[in-house]
Amino acid sequence: MAYNLCEKVRELEPYEPIKGEYKIRLDANESFYNMPDEIKTEIKKIIDETNFNRYPDPLASGLINSFADYYSISSELVTATNGSDEMLYLLASAMLEKGSKVVVAEPDFSMYAFYSFLSENQIEVYQKNDLEIDVDELISFINDKKADMVIFSNPCNPTGRGINKEDARRLVKGAGDCLVVLDEAYMDFWNESILDEADKYDNLIVLKTASKAVGMASIRLGFAVANKTITKALRAVKSPYNVNTLSQKIGECVYKHKELLQQRRDDIIKNTAALESGLRKITENYSLPFEIYSTYANFVFVKTERAKDIFEYLLENSIAVRYFGKYSALRITSGTEEENKALLVQFEQYIIKNVLKRNR
Ligand SMILES: *Cc1c(COP(=O)(O)O)cnc(C)c1O
Repeated sequence: MAYNLCEKVRELEPYEPIKGEYKIRLDANESFYNMPDEIKTEIKKIIDETNFNRYPDPLASGLINSFADYYSISSELVTATNGSDEMLYLLASAMLEKGSKVVVAEPDFSMYAFYSFLSENQIEVYQKNDLEIDVDELISFINDKKADMVIFSNPCNPTGRGINKEDARRLVKGAGDCLVVLDEAYMDFWNESILDEADKYDNLIVLKTASKAVGMASIRLGFAVANKTITKALRAVKSPYNVNTLSQKIGECVYKHKELLQQRRDDIIKNTAALESGLRKITENYSLPFEIYSTYANFVFVKTERAKDIFEYLLENSIAVRYFGKYSALRITSGTEEENKALLVQFEQYIIKNVLKRNR
């Protein structure tokens, strides 16, 4: 007799975002800003002062205070994790009984369904209409399926589309006793957050991350914001020393630089708008039937029959974007002005070389 992997993991492959080295990385929705030298100097001091032999603070108190301060909410409603990813796994596993019904939307962030699969939940897929959530339809879907949890990103990765505050509130109320998990990973780029209302509902968890607008994907910090009852449970189910001391201290330091973070967020919004209009201009110039979705996030979703071809052409020119075969679409993260210009140049070059002669 030999040990056999259990069936559900036998065919899984380790996550591999992209192979190879590319000069311009517009594939992972990261911030194009590294930390400035002045903050790196503070981080060096943090390293000097760290007692590496000691376990971290299980509640990450300094970090959640700094995070809560940045978003003007109460730290009593915050749980910190190793990236939002850790919380997504906890929500699917610890917060639900085996066989619970989880509603995910399609298209959306694939990790929701993945962790539900691992946790042996029953997954119900709500199909969006032309990439938009119809809130009334979703409420009916949740109630018809008698769902235990619904989870989606707002604004959505990969579409960049989203529902406004009013609709989000209506959904939370309409979902009844179903837990609503609103992943606001990209909400720093749009002004429709209900983060500060988490305390008002008994069935809402809002997720935030330091990996996108805040520019700290490397140190893995995620946050869940919910009422005190839910927060107590989340703090109880997470592994005690989940967020390491360096990430806690660095996060605490970075969230205190409010003006810098807001300035950078504004720069990212500006560059994304330029990227979107640049793409639009090119496709309109050549009268191409590309669908460019107006975005509320830091990336642009482009649907075209040519998606795979363009993706490969860009890689050959050392520019990485994300390709979605299922939708024949590209998701292009906004980079620096120079990176976006380079992307637009290659995008247009592809069209000139491969698509058509200019319509005149
Ligand atoms: C990037 C992203 C996150 C962040 O994940 P982390 O584990 O915190 O890096 C969460 N949700 C969505 C939809 C994302 O795109």
